[in-house]
Amino acid sequence: MSDRDGKIWMDGQLVEWRDAKIHVLSHTLHYGCGAFEGVRAYKGDDGSTAIFRLEEHTKRLFNSAKILRMTIPFTQDEVNQAQIEVIRANKLESGYLRPLTWVGDKKLGVSTKGNDIHLMVAAWPWGAYLGEEGMKRGIRVKISSYTRHHVNITMTQAKAVSNYTNSILANREATDDGYDEAVLLDASGFVSEGAGENIFVVKDGVIYTPDLSAGALNGITRNTVLHICRDLGLELVQKRITRDEVYISDEVFFTGTAAEVTPIREIDRIEIGSGSRGPITEKIQSAFFDIVNGRNPKYAHWLSKV
Ligand code: PMP
Repeated sequence: MSDRDGKIWMDGQLVEWRDAKIHVLSHTLHYGCGAFEGVRAYKGDDGSTAIFRLEEHTKRLFNSAKILRMTIPFTQDEVNQAQIEVIRANKLESGYLRPLTWVGDKKLGVSTKGNDIHLMVAAWPWGAYLGEEGMKRGIRVKISSYTRHHVNITMTQAKAVSNYTNSILANREATDDGYDEAVLLDASGFVSEGAGENIFVVKDGVIYTPDLSAGALNGITRNTVLHICRDLGLELVQKRITRDEVYISDEVFFTGTAAEVTPIREIDRIEIGSGSRGPITEKIQSAFFDIVNGRNPKYAHWLSKV
């Protein structure tokens, strides 16, 4: 991935993709204190390219940095602009953006005090994260043997680099066991989220999602689905959800920038509902793609034209 043509925005400048390098003594590489975002740009039905909820992603990046006591040396406007520039410079019609802020190589030792904070933005084409077929048929997931971070350990509202070891372990365990993705429970055994996705459950026409006290990231796609449910007149409840509640639900789906809206057809080899994408999931998925592809004027303000 490091050796290709293209441009990466690094500390205020567009640099050649293969020259966007950092030193091995960079603090974040050793201690994991850093934050990132995952953002998508879509080619709309009118042929133009737009970044979906760019401002909200940048805001979350700055909030993650705040939680981690890192001061990003750029304004949010500059970081928004950097993302637009990267899409343009790489001539992408659609794709995935990865802004990342990290602690530099001025000194090592646990404290980040006095070290430099850096920021980069890269972008590349990326299709359906959990597969095109999964978007239609639904995917198979496993409840992880790993517990999702407790809210007072690594700070679950920060999209922190170090939080992802937990996601990597859970994802590896699930995929090595032949599943598509993992679902993690919180330290009390309540459903939290996927390794990189929020989770929703449908039962008797009502939609449920874990409240954020279960340690899930406050997903921007999760928030988009809250809006969609309101628009469609669907009742949505945020509450504690148990593992067995998920087993006996009618439909389950994941949301995330990478995963978009992905149906789940099986959990721990237990078939969910009809064993394929459910009707409410399909409605929400289709409303989601209407929004990101510019077909719903109500949400035109969520699309930053490139
Ligand atoms: N939870 C985790 C752990 C994630 O990594 C992601 C992806 N950012 C999400 C949830 C979904 O968040 P979003 O919809 O903002 O991408």
